[in-house]
Formats: sequence, structure tokens, C-alpha cells
Amino acid sequence: MRYPLFEAVRERFQRACGYCGVTEITVGGELTLDHYRPRAAGGSDDWDNLVYACVRCNQYKGDFWPDSTDLADGRRILHPGVDDIAGHVVTDENTGYLHGLTPTGVFHIALLRLNRSQLVTHRLAQRLQRVFEEKIRLLEQQNAELQKTIAAQERYLALLTAQATGRRPSA
Ligand SMILES: [Zn+2]
Repeated sequence: MRYPLFEAVRERFQRACGYCGVTEITVGGELTLDHYRPRAAGGSDDWDNLVYACVRCNQYKGDFWPDSTDLADGRRILHPGVDDIAGHVVTDENTGYLHGLTPTGVFHIALLRLNRSQLVTHRLAQRLQRVFEEKIRLLEQQNAELQKTIAAQERYLALLTAQATGRRPSA
């Protein structure tokens, strides 16, 4: 049975896994609803307790829920809709690996196995895609500038030709 909030949560996370970022398109199907606080640990079906998550992240997260000792040591999972992920986790653009900036970030990456090889490859492919898109944008911009220069030169050429032949330019 689909959860009543399935569509709303799906849109909230833009059809991508809240934990690792893979999309429905890259996975080839709908993802799952994760209970941030597992039902086994008393988690509810409330909006803020639901995270759109891929099957793997959901599986690796399992029924983990921190006890007071875990919390004291920073061992908890980051909530992608609530926590400031960038304050805990950084991506190395060159290698595609995630690194923890805090004990919580380190734990989050390890438990969800966010450096699994497929995700690292996925991040590198995405980076390459961004580089291509930026290069295309720059080339399009340069082409537009060059076309303006060509148009200006053509007008100048027409003017000079008209003067040299004693005719008035047609336009
Ligand atoms: Zn995931």
C-alpha cells in the first residue's frame, strides 16, 4: 500500500534519494519512503519523519536509531530535510568521495555507505556532465559575440565597397 504522503514526500525531495542523491531516472523507477526515525523505534508516519530514499540507502540505514551514548558521540543520521548536510559532509570534486567534517558526518557516510563505488562513479559522471554543460554555455556565448563581430564587419565592408565604387550602400 502506498503511503498517503508518498507523492508529497517524493516531490519534496524532487524524486531523488534524500541521502545519496540518485534520481528515479538514474535508478529506473520510483524510490522508497524511509522513516527517518524507524517505526521500530517509535517513528511516526508524519511528514517530517519521511524521507524519499533509494532502496540501498533505506536498507543500509535499517532500524538504526541512536541511543544517548550514540548522541553524545555524534553518532546519528543526518535528516536531509532538516539538517545542514553541507556543515557535516563535503564532496571531493576530483575523486567523487564524500568526507565527513564532523563525527556525525563521518558516521552518516559510513552507515549509509555513501562512498559505495557506484555512487562515486555516479558523482564523477555528474561532475563531467556539469563541465560539459558549462563548456557548451561558454562556446555558445563566444559564438554569439563572434556573430555580432561578423555582422559589424559586413556592414563596414558594405560601406567601404560603396565608397570605393561611388555607390551608396543598399542598407
Ligand atoms: Zn540513496
